[in-house]
Amino acid sequence: MKKNMRLVFMGPPGGGKGTQAKILQEKYSWEQISTGDMFRAAIKAQTPLGIKVKEILATGALVPDDVTIALIAEKFDSMPKDQGFILDGFPRTVAQAEALDNLLAERGMRLDAVIDFQVPDEYIVERIAGRYTCAKCSAMYNDKLKPTKIPNVCDECGGSEFIRRPDDNEKVLKSRLDNYRALTALVLPYYEEKGLIKVVDGTGNVDVVTNRIEKVIEN
Ligand code: ADP
Ligand code: ZN
Repeated sequence: MKKNMRLVFMGPPGGGKGTQAKILQEKYSWEQISTGDMFRAAIKAQTPLGIKVKEILATGALVPDDVTIALIAEKFDSMPKDQGFILDGFPRTVAQAEALDNLLAERGMRLDAVIDFQVPDEYIVERIAGRYTCAKCSAMYNDKLKPTKIPNVCDECGGSEFIRRPDDNEKVLKSRLDNYRALTALVLPYYEEKGLIKVVDGTGNVDVVTNRIEKVIEN
């Protein structure tokens, strides 16, 4: 595998982007850059950015492009130029994709591939409605699909505090899905034209999906 792959993960909410990005980050030391995680961290820390975006995330709308692009620009500035990375949740609009091209070009970098996670709607509700993460180590669980082995005890770290995302409810999920279909899906043809898209079936268990991703980025 190439050492410093630069990837974009695209797919619906609950499509498994974050789960897979975390696995590849561990395995290959490519940095997971999740705009959703960055916004949630800012909200938790009550920074000016967090205060600004809190209500937006709660309703499932998109954060304005200029705010999101500035966040990514700052992130790139803090990273060594040869660092491999996985963009998880960015770009979500064509304007963001164009801005990303500029940011990369300014730094002499290029994307290697854009992974399009294909997951039908009926899987999404089940994955998202029941999901929770360990407050201490961020291990991810799901009431139905992958509960902790011992109730209320994290398999990974033994922690007993768990977090559910406030936007993981049916109503807000609908708005997140609508945004995905209306705006984010338009980013796919943008990358299609550049020949960067690799389609990956995002259904099935976690290891199977990881293998599919590794297979498409290897060649
Ligand atoms: P998911 O993909 O499961 O919906 P994320 O954690 O990627 O969740 O994003 C959560 C929320 O953060 C989004 O609903 C949106 O409000 C905001 N957000 C994340 N990334 C972006 C982005 N690139 N542009 C605009 N808003 C974003
Ligand atoms: Zn844990």
